[in-house]
Amino acid sequence: MIDFKRLTQHTFNYNLHTHTPYCDGRASIEAFVTEAIARGYKYLGFTPHSPIPFESSCNMAAEKVDEYLGEIARLRALYGQQLHIYAGMEIDYTGDWGPTAGYFGSVPLDYSIGSVHFIPSFSHEGEMVDIDGRYENFKVKMSEHFGGDIEAVVRMFFKQMLNMVESGGFDIVGHLDKIGYNASCYRPGIDREPWYETLVVELIDAIMDIGYVIEINTKAWETKHRFFPHERYFARLKRYGAPIVINSDAHEPALLSAGRDTARNLWLKA
Ligand SMILES: [Zn+2]
Ligand SMILES: [Zn+2]
Repeated sequence: MIDFKRLTQHTFNYNLHTHTPYCDGRASIEAFVTEAIARGYKYLGFTPHSPIPFESSCNMAAEKVDEYLGEIARLRALYGQQLHIYAGMEIDYTGDWGPTAGYFGSVPLDYSIGSVHFIPSFSHEGEMVDIDGRYENFKVKMSEHFGGDIEAVVRMFFKQMLNMVESGGFDIVGHLDKIGYNASCYRPGIDREPWYETLVVELIDAIMDIGYVIEINTKAWETKHRFFPHERYFARLKRYGAPIVINSDAHEPALLSAGRDTARNLWLKA
């Protein structure tokens, strides 16, 4: 198990959340590795979206996992002197499936991120809906699957997050208030409403009680001016002494550092 607290205390030259064509990323593992070395990174973790038991073009197929682990081993042999390379996964929690699924016990990962990208449809029983993508798609799904009830969607997202945190089996909590962006596009200001903030705080409390590492996800900073969790929660996390990692969730090497310095500065000032 990686000692994330120790790692982040002695360096900022790490990134533990990246995606390659093993899921929906746009450049090879080796392209990320060489870019990371060129930028002076010392630790790089790969986190393909995990296999899930339903159709999803964004997730890694279970048949690809051995090849993925083999590629990491190959690159470790080549570049291991210059960069610590970790084989991780961003494991989807859906309720029926998640980090505690027996399947993951058989996959020799260095660490995992637990994330929620899907919630159950309100209108199509048994169907899981990706609520994480672009707003244009989210808006369509709001009427197709959720009857326009944004409050219920937000509550369902945080319920899934809470259930994931309580069931465990992973190391880092991924983008903990990710629904905040799409929900705020749908109803501006929703994420400042007291009931919403209560849901975030309850989730943070549960995470702290159990003791996970919390990710500050910087992927959307340059394009949408948003961190996950939102920077208004940084002071609370610091007060709690939360162990955090600042990850760019990069889908291409050029974005390896996107938003990370800004997040660190805000964190230091919080
Ligand atoms: Zn994610
Ligand atoms: Zn990701």
